[in-house]
Amino acid sequence: MENLSKLSIRAVHEGLLKKDFTSSEVLESCLKEVKSQNKDLNAFVLIDEEGAKMAANSLDAKIMNNESSLSVLSGVPMSLKDIFCVKGMRTTCASKMLENFIPPYDATVVEKLRDNDSIIVGKTNMDEFACGASTEHSIFGPARNPYDTQRVAGGSSGGSAVSVASNMSFYSLGTDTGGSIRQPASLCGVYGLKPTYGRISRSGVVSMASSWDHVGAFARSAEDIGFVLSAIAGKDRRDSTTSDKDVPDYSKFLDDSVKGLKIGIPKEYFDEGVEEETRAVVMESAKKLEKQGAEIIDVSLPYTKYAIAVYYISMPAELSSNLERFDGIRYGIKPSEKAEDIVDYYYKARSEGFGSEIKRRILIGTYVLSSGYFDAYYKKAQKVRTLILEDFNNVFTKVDALLAPVSPFPAFKVGDLLDNPLAMYMADALTIPANAAGVPALSCPVGKSKTGLPIGAQIIAPQFGEGLCLTVANALSA
Ligand code: GLN
Repeated sequence: MENLSKLSIRAVHEGLLKKDFTSSEVLESCLKEVKSQNKDLNAFVLIDEEGAKMAANSLDAKIMNNESSLSVLSGVPMSLKDIFCVKGMRTTCASKMLENFIPPYDATVVEKLRDNDSIIVGKTNMDEFACGASTEHSIFGPARNPYDTQRVAGGSSGGSAVSVASNMSFYSLGTDTGGSIRQPASLCGVYGLKPTYGRISRSGVVSMASSWDHVGAFARSAEDIGFVLSAIAGKDRRDSTTSDKDVPDYSKFLDDSVKGLKIGIPKEYFDEGVEEETRAVVMESAKKLEKQGAEIIDVSLPYTKYAIAVYYISMPAELSSNLERFDGIRYGIKPSEKAEDIVDYYYKARSEGFGSEIKRRILIGTYVLSSGYFDAYYKKAQKVRTLILEDFNNVFTKVDALLAPVSPFPAFKVGDLLDNPLAMYMADALTIPANAAGVPALSCPVGKSKTGLPIGAQIIAPQFGEGLCLTVANALSA
């Protein structure tokens, strides 16, 4: 039998409808990839073989008896970053702090996946509490890039990107607070969408920095991303920041042409910090769109250069507040040594439970929020964040969408940036602005470096313009 794990979601759906194969057979082909590759790639940190098999078997029985109306995601094996709560399934955020945490409920997106008879293969590797750009800050050890296992997968949703790139799952859900879907997608040669803020519920997803956090998806085509987005987007009463805007059938946008679209090339995204090869590959993509009738226009978003500074004040402020609940009592591990008093108990639990990158960010976050520094740092960062949003509002009066690199460089070597946090932070210089403004942005694979590493292009659209991102991504894959 052909290797089913490489099919498109549409092909799996059609095959299941025609009874060419069963969901269990599709799952088996993914599990075969997991068994042969996960040891080297470290994409999955938990494999729920039994649960996935049971779900596939019960769906197959329903299909046999013609009892099931299949949605396009029914019976398709998928994976979840280890930040999504799944009832009864260990959820660690790759942190010692949550090494024993078993959620008592499903995240809203997980409920939606279950409504669609999705098959959850397991949980994927990530940077601790989603803080990082390489999936090296993980208690499970680094995820590896499938194109070169000496190199990182990107992060923080690195395991999700790898699981999709290596056919261990058809799609994966991740989170993107400053680039954690788009950057690993770019480094691993898959598609990754960070939608509009409020498009997908964050309920049941462990919070990093709430005003920056977005749930999104990885897949191997724009069409597959569209299918997933249509299934999981929408209003959720458990997340008051979700929008009640209608959820379209996103796969419909795939047939649209880019003819007549105005595509902006933002000059700040092509400056000297971005490797020459990456710039050249993305400019080739612009030419491709031009050939299909799009108009390419040079534009400027002058506040882009402040995005990293704003992010590394605002994000730690929110992160340090969100992490307060991990005190060893409400959530988190109990300290291994006896504590003198309650303060000592917190001290010991948090010292043992959190890794060094998390501690660094808690220090920054509590500092910028402390009295006397609040106005100078936090408030100022909030004001500059508004200017970044206005940059996007202005540019979208001139163009329909933007085309830019995702990451300034392709996958770097494991260990290379670990001792240099500032260099690691630069990996997200081009992805953070879209989080600041809450606009949708999609990473799509458009080329390779001379050394054979994937390079992605980023398509950024106005709020709720996910469909437009998919149209342009599809045109680039033609
Ligand atoms: N790499 C960025 C950081 O370290 C972004 C992380 C994310 O999007 N979750 O914070």
